[in-house]
Amino acid sequence: MNNVDYLRVSVTDRCNLRCIYCNPLGDRGLRDREGILDFDEIHRVVRLCAECGIRKVRLTGGEPLMCGNIADLIRKLAAVAGIEDLSLTTNGVLLGSMAADLKAAGLKRVNISLDAVDRQCYQQMTGLDSLPQVLDGLHKAIEIGLTPVRLNCVVMREHNLSQVTALAEMTRHLPVSVRFIEYCPTSRVTGRADGYVPNAEVRQIIESQFGPLSDVVVPNAGGPAVYFKAQGAGGAIGFISGRSSVFCHDCSRLRLTSDGKIKPCLHADRHYDVRGLLRGGAGDEAIRDLIRRSLREKGRYTRVTSTAEDFLMQSIGG
Ligand code: SAM
Repeated sequence: MNNVDYLRVSVTDRCNLRCIYCNPLGDRGLRDREGILDFDEIHRVVRLCAECGIRKVRLTGGEPLMCGNIADLIRKLAAVAGIEDLSLTTNGVLLGSMAADLKAAGLKRVNISLDAVDRQCYQQMTGLDSLPQVLDGLHKAIEIGLTPVRLNCVVMREHNLSQVTALAEMTRHLPVSVRFIEYCPTSRVTGRADGYVPNAEVRQIIESQFGPLSDVVVPNAGGPAVYFKAQGAGGAIGFISGRSSVFCHDCSRLRLTSDGKIKPCLHADRHYDVRGLLRGGAGDEAIRDLIRRSLREKGRYTRVTSTAEDFLMQSIGG
């Protein structure tokens, strides 16, 4: 079992996109805003997590950049003793105009979701014709050094399988890693055609265009992605194969949901209610106890032993 030193924080369950694999229903059925942790509460949980050994924090959502004052949270978290790496996952739509402020506030790097490079296909996957803004955000992130930039692509057979080669091609022209993520079914997308494509098939498509991928080690990559390189490419191609493989033994992360639950495993029903403690007037020691318990018990849950599919990716943060 890995050392658990990484916390993903979903700062909001709201999103400005309607990705078919994540939140095709938009904001319907989401929590009232009072149910969502505010920045002071998130800061307190992160500070206490750092005291329990967490060293890396990633902000996610929903769409974290929909919180217009997210730079304030970044500034506070960057100052937390013990936090060595502060990153953010975004759909990139608002990134171009915010990147400089985020960097100045102490953000180190970004992951950007990009499911297509064809404008029509992008709109069909995400519900919004915003590919130009996302590409602008990507270039701005590289320019100001929110790096290394990673691009995340969820591949769905009927929708963006045709985009795989063009996305992989980006690693030849830009200093980015492009990561292909296997689609994970959730309650929100139940009932839709399951467009799952195993990453072995994605790799075959890439190799048929670019030749065999070579093994590559990306320094400090951590996490579930396995990285390779196409011949002549500067950037790496990553595969996150959560459905065709099991990487629970390498999992080093806890998740803090937007409504204040610590989740030891994406797939587990089990959660630890930190919001109840925060709002019930609990002292730091009681909250640290809960965090330590979730760290201790994390090893009990794996994708294989857990069956929770009834979750919202946007509340948990992916
Ligand atoms: N709005 C941000 C974004 O688009 O990156 C952050 C939130 S999003 C929930 C975080 C990550 O979860 C993204 O990389 C997205 O591709 C991934 N994701 C969402 N739903 C998924 C699903 N059903 N299967 C696999 N990955 C998913």
